[in-house]
Amino acid sequence: MSPSSAHRIIEHMPELKDHLTALPIELQHLIFESVFPTHCPDLAFHPGDAKDTEAVHTLDHLARTCQSINQQVHAWARSWLKAHSAITRYKPMEDPKDEAKRDMLRGPGGLLVWKHSHCIFCGKQTPRSAILMNGFRCCQRCDLAEWPDKITKTKAIENFDLRDHQLLPHQHTSALLLQLGASKFPRLHYGTYLSSNVRTTMFLRADVHRLAEAIHGDLEAHLARRKRSAASRKQKMEAKAEKKRQMDLDWMKKNAPFQYAKETGSSNDAAARELHELMLQARMPVNVLGMESFRTLLGLW
Ligand SMILES: [Zn+2]
Repeated sequence: MSPSSAHRIIEHMPELKDHLTALPIELQHLIFESVFPTHCPDLAFHPGDAKDTEAVHTLDHLARTCQSINQQVHAWARSWLKAHSAITRYKPMEDPKDEAKRDMLRGPGGLLVWKHSHCIFCGKQTPRSAILMNGFRCCQRCDLAEWPDKITKTKAIENFDLRDHQLLPHQHTSALLLQLGASKFPRLHYGTYLSSNVRTTMFLRADVHRLAEAIHGDLEAHLARRKRSAASRKQKMEAKAEKKRQMDLDWMKKNAPFQYAKETGSSNDAAARELHELMLQARMPVNVLGMESFRTLLGLW
C-alpha cells in the first residue's frame, strides 16, 4: 500500500473519542471507587475465578489506558489510603517528588497491596475474605458486624419455602424450569465459602424474605398454611401407621401369641391361655391337658 493510500484510509476513519478522560475528575474517581470492590460469588466452587482479579485488577487495566487516567487512578488510590489512614497507616513520603512517583496501586503500601492482606473495615491483617464481597479481606468480627443477618441456602429453603432454582435461577437453565419462569426470579446477591471442607452458600436474610414474598405473596399466611398442611399430613401418616400396627397386633394375637405378649407387655400366661384356646378351636388334641400341664409343656414353669 502506498503512503498516499494509507493516508487516505486514516483520513476517512471515524474519529475515536476518549469519553473517559473527557469526564470531570470527580466522576472519574467515582468510577474508580465503583470498580474497587470485586466479588466472585461462586468462589468456593471455582477458586480459580478469583485468581485473575487478584493478579490484575480493573484498576490496573484502567491505569494502563493512558497517562491521564494513570495519573488519576494513582491520585484516587492515594486519596483513598489517606482518607482511611486510621486503618491503612498511610504516610506520604518526605520528598513530594518521591511521593509523586510512588506506585499507589502495586508499590509498597499501594492500595491493591494493602487490600490483599488487610481487613477492609478495621485494617487488621487477615487472609480471610468477606463472604459477600470476597475481593476484600475481612476479619470474622467485621464480617458479622457489616453483614449481621446472613442466612445459609439450606435455611433459606427450609424457613422460606423456597427452591434452589428460585434462589439461584442462573444456575438452572433446563427447558422445564425456563418454562416455569425460573429466569424471571431476581438474581440475589450471594457468596460462598469453604468451612471444614463443606461449601456453603450465603444470602442476606432481607433479600431472601423479599424473594419469598414475591413468590408466595403474604409470607406469614403462606408459612402458617404450610405448617397446618404439614401437621395434617403428619396426623394422617400417624393414623395410617397406627391402623397398620393394630392389624399386625390382631394377626400376631392369633398366630404368634407369645410375640403378641412381648409387643403389648401382657403376660406369657395370657399368651398360653390364648394359644390353648386357639388349639382347642382348631380341634387339636390339647383338651386332654389341663392348663397347668399345658404351661409345663410350654416350659412356662
Ligand atoms: Zn476487621
